[in-house]
Amino acid sequence: MQYLPIFADLNAKSVLLVGGGHVALRKARTLLQAGAALTVVSKEFAEEFIEWQAQQRVQLIQGEFAESLLAEQWLVLAATDDDELNARVHQAATARQIWVNTVDDQDKCEFIFPSIIDRSPILVAISSGGSAPVLVRRLREKLETLLPQHLGPLARLVGKFRRKVQDKLDNFAERRQFYERVFNSKVVSLLQTEQPEAAETELADMLAGHQPSQGEVFVVGAGPGDPELLTLKALQCMQQADVIVYDYLVSAPILALVRRDAELICVGKKAGAHSVQQEHTNQLLVELALAGKKVCRLKGGDPFIFGRGAEEIEALLPHQIKFQVVPGITAAAGCAAYAGIPLTHRDHAQTVQIVTGHCQKDGKEPDWHSLSRPQQTLVIYMGLMKSAHIQQQLLQAGRSPQTPVAILENGTRPEQRVVTGQLADLAMLIQQHQIQSPALLVIGEVVSLQSQLAWYGAQSPQTVFSQPIASLN
Ligand code: SAH
Repeated sequence: MQYLPIFADLNAKSVLLVGGGHVALRKARTLLQAGAALTVVSKEFAEEFIEWQAQQRVQLIQGEFAESLLAEQWLVLAATDDDELNARVHQAATARQIWVNTVDDQDKCEFIFPSIIDRSPILVAISSGGSAPVLVRRLREKLETLLPQHLGPLARLVGKFRRKVQDKLDNFAERRQFYERVFNSKVVSLLQTEQPEAAETELADMLAGHQPSQGEVFVVGAGPGDPELLTLKALQCMQQADVIVYDYLVSAPILALVRRDAELICVGKKAGAHSVQQEHTNQLLVELALAGKKVCRLKGGDPFIFGRGAEEIEALLPHQIKFQVVPGITAAAGCAAYAGIPLTHRDHAQTVQIVTGHCQKDGKEPDWHSLSRPQQTLVIYMGLMKSAHIQQQLLQAGRSPQTPVAILENGTRPEQRVVTGQLADLAMLIQQHQIQSPALLVIGEVVSLQSQLAWYGAQSPQTVFSQPIASLN
C-alpha cells in the first residue's frame, strides 16, 4: 500500500494554503468543506477568496510566504505556479514534520487528495496513487451513479437513532436485523422523496413496534464452484445470514462472499460419512433457527439434486421454522457447460438421466437397461468409487464399448480437468489420471462434441485438458 487512506478530522484545525490562484481555490473549497481554519498566503487572490474573507471563512495574507507562517499548522498546501517557491514550502514544512501537499508534484507530497464521492456522512475516497487518474475518474462516475443521493440523509437519520436502538435491542444480531429491516422499509423511499419528518416518524414507529426476530433457514444452492454462477438470491441470502452452515463442495471464493461477520460452520463430509453426520446437521439447523438466527445452509450445486435439502427441511417442519429454498446450478449443468458438452443435442441425445453412483439405502441396483439406452446422456454424480462397476454394468446391459465418456473434475473452477475417452476405458481413465473428488461422469454420444465446443480451458491457463488415453497409445 503506497498511501494509507485515513479520514482526518480537520474541523477548526489550522491549515496553511500557499497560493491564491484557481488551483489553490479548488483545494481551498475541499478544505473548507471539511471545516478547516484556513489561512491563505499569496501575492494575488482569485475573486472567490476575497468573498470568503468578507464572510470570515478564510484569513488572507497578501505577501510572501515566510517560514514563521508554519507555526501551529496541521497541514500545508503548496499551490503556486512557482516551482521554486513550492519546493521551499515543501522543505520548510517537512523539516517541521507538518504534512504537506504540493499541487501537481507528487514527489513533494507527504499526502495526496483522493477523489471523493460525498454523501456525508458517507464518504467514498478513491485513489490510484497518481498512476491512473483517468481510471479513477471513470470509477468515480460509476460510483456517483450507483450511490443514491438519499444515502447521506439515511445515514444521518440512522445515526440519530443509534443510541435508542442500542438501549432497546441489547444484542448485536438483533440490532443488525433491525437495521436490515429499516434499509428495506418505507423509511428509505420517504427520504428518497424528500420527506425527512415522515421518515423519522416511520423509523420511530418501527423501533417502538419491534419484535424479537424469528429464526429462519435459507437452503441455498451455491452452484458447482465458480462464484459467478451464484444466483442473485443466493448472494442476498449469504449476505443476510447470521450463520453460514456449509459443506465441503462450497468453494473458497464463494465463502469469501458471505457477510463478513457471519459465523461459518462447516458440516460437510466427503462421500463415506453417512446419516449420523446428516442428523447432526439437521439438529444444528434446528437449534440455530430456534435461537433466532438467520441461517444460510449453503450447499454445492442445487440443494434438491443429490443435496439432501429436503431431509433438512423435513427436520425444520415439526418446529414450525420458516424456510426458503434457493435453487443453484447443479453440477451436471454447470460442469457440462464449462467442459463444452451439451447434455442434449438433436443429433445425439434426446434424454438425460441424472443418477448417483452411490448405492441406494437398500443396496438395490438401478435399472441398468434403462441407463444403457443409446442416444441418451447419462450423468453420474459421486461415481468415482464405483466406476468399474458402472462401466461393467452398462456394457453388460448393452451400451456400446465405444460410447464416448467424459470425466469432469473440479468443474467450473480454475483447476478444472476434463478427461475424455470411451466407456470401455472409464475406470482405467479415472485411475490413470488420478481423478479426485468432486468429479462427474458423463456418458453418451454428446461427449463427442466436446473437442469442438470446449471453451473454458482456452481462457483459463490453469485448466488442463487431458488427451483421451486411447489417443496416447
Ligand atoms: N447438490 C449437488 C450435488 C452433490 S453430490 C449438485 O446439485 O451439484 C456431490 C457430487 O456432485 C460430487 O461427488 C460430484 O460428482 C458432483 N459435483 C459437484 N460439484 C462438482 C464439480 N465442481 N465438479 C465435478 N463434480 C461436481
